Amino acid sequence: MTRKKIVAGNWKMNGSLESNEQLLKGVFAGIESENSLVIVAPPFAYLSQVSAMVKGAQVSLAAQNSSQYASGAYTGETSLGMLKDLGVEYVLVGHSERRTHYGETDGIVAEKTKAIIESGLIPILCIGETLEERQSEQTLLVCAKQINAVLSEVGISNFEKVVVAYEPVWAIGTGLSATAQQAQDVHEFVRKHIATQDSEIAKKVQILYGGSVKASNSEELFAMPDIDGALVGGASLIVEEFVGIIKSAG
Ligand code: PGA
Repeated sequence: MTRKKIVAGNWKMNGSLESNEQLLKGVFAGIESENSLVIVAPPFAYLSQVSAMVKGAQVSLAAQNSSQYASGAYTGETSLGMLKDLGVEYVLVGHSERRTHYGETDGIVAEKTKAIIESGLIPILCIGETLEERQSEQTLLVCAKQINAVLSEVGISNFEKVVVAYEPVWAIGTGLSATAQQAQDVHEFVRKHIATQDSEIAKKVQILYGGSVKASNSEELFAMPDIDGALVGGASLIVEEFVGIIKSAG
């Protein structure tokens, strides 16, 4: 089963009108005819700008977060309808920074994932263990629990519409990537875990790795049978790095 590779850049809270333009122009120039799907997730404030720029380019637009509610008195929030208006196709959900700094529980992540699927957008569901959890050999248990919370909310048949991103928290922004084998082991586990409910869907689900991915380690990661691409933070802000990662995805 060949799954299309995805390289998604999570800009987090970085950028400006000027730097976004420079970055995207550099990326467009670097990626003429790639086979992989390239996605960028700018901050909300720049979705309009980036949406206009990616039109006609081989780059899709993601939001870094969304509300699970359709409209109403939710100051500071952004609905999925608004994101669709802006040409957003993918939405990150459950990123560890949202879980840690904004109290997003497995339950909230599951609710948001359901809302994203119902809106017709595609969730990129982030899961992953902390260093403490890895050291106490809880990695697989934590990932299974995070997946189960979503599975029980959306049902296995909807999981076909979910992109999973395995992002060990200890590898995010630390420069300390998981080794390709460490990542593969978890990806294989996640796929087998999904297969216990539906083996055909498990074969189709794209599982990205995230956590200090750079041009120098992406090729080795992408060579692993269950790694279907990357969710890239820091390196997605540097043209040469991001383009290098995209090129290694083939
Ligand atoms: P990083 O971030 O590539 O800077 O480690 C990854 C992420 O948070 O998605």
